[in-house]
Amino acid sequence: MSNVPVAVVTGSNKGIGLAIVRALCKQFPGDVYMTSRDAGRGQAAVAQLQQEGLRPLFHQLDIDDLQSIRALRDFLKEKYGGLNVLVNNAGIAFKVQDTTPFAVQAEVTLKTNFFGTRNVCTELLPIMKPYGRVVNVSSMVSSSALAGCSQELQQKFRSDTITEDELVQLMTKFVEDTKKNVHEKEGWPNTAYGVSKIGVTVLSRIQARLLNEQRKGDHILLNACCPGWVRTDMAGPQATKSPDEGAETPVYLALLPSSADAPHGQFVSDKTVRPW
Ligand code: NAP
Repeated sequence: MSNVPVAVVTGSNKGIGLAIVRALCKQFPGDVYMTSRDAGRGQAAVAQLQQEGLRPLFHQLDIDDLQSIRALRDFLKEKYGGLNVLVNNAGIAFKVQDTTPFAVQAEVTLKTNFFGTRNVCTELLPIMKPYGRVVNVSSMVSSSALAGCSQELQQKFRSDTITEDELVQLMTKFVEDTKKNVHEKEGWPNTAYGVSKIGVTVLSRIQARLLNEQRKGDHILLNACCPGWVRTDMAGPQATKSPDEGAETPVYLALLPSSADAPHGQFVSDKTVRPW
């Protein structure tokens, strides 16, 4: 078994994920895994970074596929005895002009952004090593979507005692409410992506609390963040940040020094803790 520290970035064959892998290859003292749901796209991206003189490693990972997540977990356990850095970056967003029915957009978006990310956490958080760092890439849109929720929902999502099961029930209810076309009446904002990212931010707050309760001595730090508005296939060419600039906050959180005890359980953008 290797004693080399190991970092994994989900959905990193392009966009912000690829830029996070690039920065970690330069700054993280260990093995850095680019992961992609499609091995061909992943290998092409590895070759791109190799041309820049970097040496990322590759493992397949589709966060919608529990078997794929478990295969990565077993590989990491066997080869490294665990994991030091996990960046949950993989995500999807329908374009504004997309005519797919809203209920379908809600189901598909929540499936990857919330349920897929949660499944990765469920499988990989137990193998995080002491002083591990976990970064869940959310979005500022989670904050604006929260502001668009009913007072009752806002209170639930801001609660310091909400459980993961309760959050899963709420995310499931959103999808069901869109199918019945009652989501606005039930207090939800009209954004599937926004609700999925509320889920990611609240999940991060819950997971950080559980780490405090169950593994305090392990000094693991877990945060949600927004990369900013970044020029990728998701956000388009008008966005203000380059992918490398978008990677800065996630990488800062991934490389928090072992002496740090904060931020933890926070929502961070531009390396600054934001109110939730
Ligand atoms: P992007 O260029 O579209 O890249 C998304 C990445 O996620 C791609 O590698 C994609 O793989 C991967 N992915 C999607 N579904 C996956 C799955 N089921 N399993 C594994 N990988 C999957 O988007 P981006 O702008 O870099 O976004 C990265 C993250 O930042 C997302 O979580 C996004 O919500 C968040 N974010 C972006 C912005 C922005 O302005 N760009 C702002 C706030 C937050 P494929 O190539 O196979 O599709």
